[in-house]
Formats: sequence, structure tokens, C-alpha cells
Amino acid sequence: MSNIMLGVDIGTTSTKTVAFTLEGQVLAQHVVEYPLLCSTPGMAEQDPQLIYRAVLTSIAEAVKAANATCTGARRVVLVSFSAAMHSVIALDGNNNLLTNSITWADNRASEWSSRIRDEFNGNEIYRRTGTPIHPMSPLCKLMWLRHDQPDVFARAARFAGIKEYVFFRLFGSWQVDHSIASATGLFNLQELNWDKDALALLGISAAQLSEPVPATHHMKGLDAAIAAQLGLNPDTPFVIGANDGVLSNLGVNAIRPGQVAVTIGTSGAMRTVIDKPLTDPSGRTFCYALIEGHWVVGGPVNNGGNIFRWVRDELATAESAAARCAGVDPYDALTRIAERVPPGAAGLLFHPFMAGERAPLWNADLRGSFFGLALHHGKQHMIRAALEGVIFNLYSILPAIEDLIGPTKRMMATGGFARSALWRQMMADIFQREVVVPESVESSCLGAAVLGLYALDMAPSLDVISDMVGSTNRHLPIAANAAIYDRLRPIFMSLPGKLQQEYQALSEFQRQSALVQPSQPLQSLRSSH
Ligand code: ADP
Repeated sequence: MSNIMLGVDIGTTSTKTVAFTLEGQVLAQHVVEYPLLCSTPGMAEQDPQLIYRAVLTSIAEAVKAANATCTGARRVVLVSFSAAMHSVIALDGNNNLLTNSITWADNRASEWSSRIRDEFNGNEIYRRTGTPIHPMSPLCKLMWLRHDQPDVFARAARFAGIKEYVFFRLFGSWQVDHSIASATGLFNLQELNWDKDALALLGISAAQLSEPVPATHHMKGLDAAIAAQLGLNPDTPFVIGANDGVLSNLGVNAIRPGQVAVTIGTSGAMRTVIDKPLTDPSGRTFCYALIEGHWVVGGPVNNGGNIFRWVRDELATAESAAARCAGVDPYDALTRIAERVPPGAAGLLFHPFMAGERAPLWNADLRGSFFGLALHHGKQHMIRAALEGVIFNLYSILPAIEDLIGPTKRMMATGGFARSALWRQMMADIFQREVVVPESVESSCLGAAVLGLYALDMAPSLDVISDMVGSTNRHLPIAANAAIYDRLRPIFMSLPGKLQQEYQALSEFQRQSALVQPSQPLQSLRSSH
């Protein structure tokens, strides 16, 4: 019986713990979900105490399910953490909560985000901190808090993210890994410390923030009662770990130059690893820390699998219902309908900006549209165009990444979209690259566990991941399809830039007339990527 490592991912809708053998084989997992609190427009908060309890439960249940014991051969030898980026919690001088955890999905700082960009030299702050100036970032959120809730801001002795809060509850001290810190907009990438000018802009001091430590930092000495609750030895090392985006790259083995990890779950992201921090003069990409000599640049998109879900639930309602009646997964049924029409959907394009968009345009006012509708188009074209639009949109991040780091080669793809062979092939054809879909489903948890092995000197480097990730599906570009997409891609990419004013006017109209509810359906928010 082999020893066990636990990877824990504190996500936006759930915390998941996966128990692996030290060779990366999944033994057991346990997920605990929690709600996103959204009682006012733009708000997306979570209860930190609920998340702390979810972390304990998911660890305890995974330990139980893996039949681990505190001593003996099947022992948990490490617990290592991944977490969603960009969360902020305010606490008073006695470490009492003053706010919930304000998540990446909270949009209330959007006005302050624009003002920081335009009036406070936002691009310079981005160049030093690697976090795009966007309402998702703690920099913008704290600016909003300072002005919108000045009493709370004034009483706050400390600001921390959700993983820091969980570690504080477990070990009693406030530390933040460089990876989560690098996604706050407050962390100087060159100095690996809090950025003085960003703090000055907010009127806060470094003493109000956690102590930055490398992602390999680990702690021991759990309280005996908590250890008993978790089924762990109190001396089990807890590795602080990194953020879920960079760990996903590690978990799919995309950590060498030229390898790109693309995720399409509910939202999406494209990321690649480089050896030093790098930001984009035009502010299109993020740069987050993994470990020394490993930095992740890339871009997140709001519009990924949520688009296919909208197609399933709003556009192809009847087809989806019929599929359900026949016991078929509606996504599979719709994929088959899309397959009836050739690549390019007979010249129909779909811009998937239904939730505004982050990279590479960083414009919350963008809106979705079909472009080029003609009478010969039917629903099958619309479904195919929507799937293609999601990939075209992700593709549009690639030039920003390649401008920074040079040409990229192989792509590792993950997320729910990868269940569809059609969608995977579209990715190979539109990107004109080999697309490999690894076996590992929980890439952030596996990435966390492997980082844990490295942190505890149980692995010589992160490269041990290559023996743990099998590859199930490979797709090579089909030349005839690629030629079609070559013709359509420039049309797709040039339109948004031309319609800035119209997008702005229309989204303003939508806001005023309340024709739409909050811009992102709350159940569709999953991960920060
Ligand atoms: P999350 O990001 O929430 O963890 P997933 O990675 O499971 O979510 O991705 C969910 C998305 O995957 C769905 O919104 C849908 O677009 C897509 N998806 C799920 N099943 C299929 C399928 N069989 N074929 C194509 N796409 C699918």
C-alpha cells in the first residue's frame, strides 16, 4: 500500500480534495459545494467560515475514502493547496471578519478599475504587478471598498485572500504564497514583495497584508482536535501551494517553453510558463508566479463553456429536451447537430462576448452577436458557429502571448469542452497546432500535490509530473478545415475593435433599462483561471 498525497483546490463554487498515490494515481476525491452570495447587482461574495468548514470536510472525507490511516503504510504524507485567485476579506484587529470573501467574479469595482487605469497610471501598476487592471483584482476591490464602505475600510486591520484565511484558521499565522500574491495587483514581481506605490494608492501598509512566502512554504503542527477531525497526524506537512491557474498548467504538464495550456470549463484561459516575470506593454496578459524560475503568462476569458450552456438552455431548448427524453446528454446531441454542417458554419460567425470579456480586450461592455446570418442558415449553423466562436475568441489571446514569448507549439487542453471530439478538433484546426487532452481531470489538485512533493524534497523537480499525466486524445489540424478558418479568423478578430462605441452604447442601454439581469448568470461562475 502506497503513501498518499492530498491536493486541495479551494474554488469559487466548491472545494475539492483529491487523494493521490505518490505516483499520481487518483485514489479518492471529495467535493463540498458552497453558494455564491449575490444579493445586490455585481456582488459575488462567499462566506469564509463556510469555506473553511468545506476545506475540513473535503479533506476528512477524501482521507476516509482513500482508507488512509494516521500511521502505517497508507499514510497521508502531505497536503498541498490550490485556490482561486483575487479574493479579498477584511478583518479587524482581533481577526474578526468585517466582510465576506469578495471573489474574482464580483464586479462592483468596475468604475474604480476604469479610474485606476485612466487617472492613476494603471498601466504602470500593471507593469510592476502583472495583474491586469480589472474589477476582479484586489487592487481595484480595495479601492472600491475604501470609497464605498469607508467605515469597514477604516476598521480593517488586515486584508487577506481565502487561502490565507484558511491557513490562519489552521496554523494561526498570516502568510500568502507568491502565486496568490502576484494576482492581487499589489505585489511587485521583481522585488517579490508588496508594491509600495500600489499600497500608497490605497492608503494601506504592508503590515495589513500577509507575509509573502514561496509556494513551497509548508507548516506543521495542526491542533490535535483538528488533526483528529481530518484523520491526519498533527505533524502532516501542509504546503501553502499556489493559485489554481498556474497549478493547472503544472497539472497538465505544460511547464516547458512553447507549451500552452488551454482550459475551457465554464470560463476559459490560455497560459504558458516562462522563466522570468514578463508583462505586456498593451496590458493584454497577466503574469503570475509559480515557483522560482517558473512564471505563468496568459489570459482569461469569461466566455467558454457557459456559451454552450446558453445554447443548450436558450437557443436549442427543444433539441436539448428531446435529447434528455432519449437519455442522451444534450451537449452530445447538440454536438451531433453541429456536425451536420461543415467547418465555418457556411460563413456564420458568433462573437461569444455574452459576459463581457477579459483577455485580450479587457472590456466588460462587449456583447455577443451572430454576424453574417443569411437565409440559408439554420439552427445547426448557429450551434456550430457558437462552438467555433468560443475557440476563435480564445485564439485571439495567442498573438498577445506570442508577442511576449515567441512562437508556441503544442497545446494541452482541459475542461468540460474536451468531452466533445468535435470541439477538440475545432481547436486543433483553428489554432493549427497539435492539441493533446491529458487524462488528469483535476489538474489544479494534481498540480498542487506535485508542488507539495517538490516542496518537501520528495521530488527533484516539477518534471515528475510528466510521468503522472497520461494523454488520452490527440488531434492534429486537418488542412482543409484550417484553410477555411484561416479565411474567417481575420473577420472574427477585426470586428470587436470596430464596434467599441456601439458595444458601449448598447451595454449602457441594457444596464439602464434593466433588460438583462447581472451580466454573468451566477450559476455559471466557476473558476478564476
Ligand atoms: P467548470 O469550469 O465549472 O469546472 P467544466 O470544466 O465541467 O466546468 O465545464 C463545463 C462546460 O463543459 C459546460 O458548460 C459545457 O459547455 C461543457 N461540456 C460539458 N459536457 C460537454 C460535452 N459532452 N460536450 C461538449 N461540451 C461539454
